[in-house]
Amino acid sequence: MNRPLFVTEPSLPPLQALQPYLEQIWSRRWLTNGGPLHQQLEQQLQQWLGVSKLALFANGTLALLTALQQLRIRGEVITTPYSFVATSHALRWNGITPVFVDIDPSTGNLDPGQIESAITPETTAILGVHIYGVPCEVERIQRIADNYNLKVIYDACHAFGVEDEGGSVLRHGDLSVLSFHATKVFNTFEGGAIICPDDRSKNQIDHLKNFGFVDEVTVAAVGINGKMNELQAAIGLLQLEAMPAQIARRAQIAERYRRQLEGIKGLNLLPEPQLARCNHAYMPVLIDGQAALSRDQLYEQLKTHQIFSRRYFYPLISEFPMYRQLPSADPARLPRAMALSRQVLCLPMAASLEDGDQDRVIGAIRQEMGAS
Ligand SMILES: *Cc1c(COP(=O)(O)O)cnc(C)c1O
Repeated sequence: MNRPLFVTEPSLPPLQALQPYLEQIWSRRWLTNGGPLHQQLEQQLQQWLGVSKLALFANGTLALLTALQQLRIRGEVITTPYSFVATSHALRWNGITPVFVDIDPSTGNLDPGQIESAITPETTAILGVHIYGVPCEVERIQRIADNYNLKVIYDACHAFGVEDEGGSVLRHGDLSVLSFHATKVFNTFEGGAIICPDDRSKNQIDHLKNFGFVDEVTVAAVGINGKMNELQAAIGLLQLEAMPAQIARRAQIAERYRRQLEGIKGLNLLPEPQLARCNHAYMPVLIDGQAALSRDQLYEQLKTHQIFSRRYFYPLISEFPMYRQLPSADPARLPRAMALSRQVLCLPMAASLEDGDQDRVIGAIRQEMGAS
């Protein structure tokens, strides 16, 4: 029986490497609240990612919620329906109305050309998502934001380590948010971060993630408990050591998929992003009406080969019951997001995927699509 292959496979550090960290934690009994490992991980991530300041969080969703609080976002926020549902949930938990606009079909990212017509007097911000780790059109988005006095937040949960010609993509916008969930390129089991432009905003965010405490007796804001603990930080320090090799391995896998999935009728790939560094977080393929099988048929057939692909992102956020009554959620207004969500299938992509595993995925697809 072949081992099951999942769309993502979490990487783990060698178990024995954890022991010294556990001994440190046990002897110090400093378990959370900005402990030494937490401080060390913040510093190493700042350096590794090439960002000025970073505040760690218990998960990406709490980081998104806090980023919106920090920028005092209210009213309406223009965002994309083509993302993980937490993107819009973070708005709603802050009492903000998401306003969905259509996407650029060549990336899956929010289309800047759709933003201006969605702006109303209630609009306060744009929340973009660097889907699959491919950056949004950050300059166009910033120009619009500057013209209309809007804040810009990036859900960069897919974009760990991604660089454009100017450096880390995490420097764009007013704040960017990362997730270190088990399924992400870099994981601390659960975890996340806000990239902060300066010490002042990092300080304020550090207060917000600790109930708003500034010191023992001063609470400066309605904060939350978003703190990352020392165990998570220890995992992060170990995972970071493996990052360069893991991203390089992902690049090889992506290259091989691109070569060996060529020439299958009805199977298309998104254009290869031109970046200083990609992270190859996902391997999306698109199945159109010319294919031997529909997207959903292929998805089901792959399961019979013990290959568990995922339809990221289907359904659209705007199709879920708590959003679909919004005027901006009307599928007729989101034709390109609708189309992409009906075509996309994300294939297994992980640093631990071996050539033989990948051969199984490619072989199964070619066989099922009548291309073998
Ligand atoms: C993973 C993810 C989140 C949520 O992050 P968690 O760490 O799981 O809370 C939000 N947005 C996107 C785009 C994600 O992929």
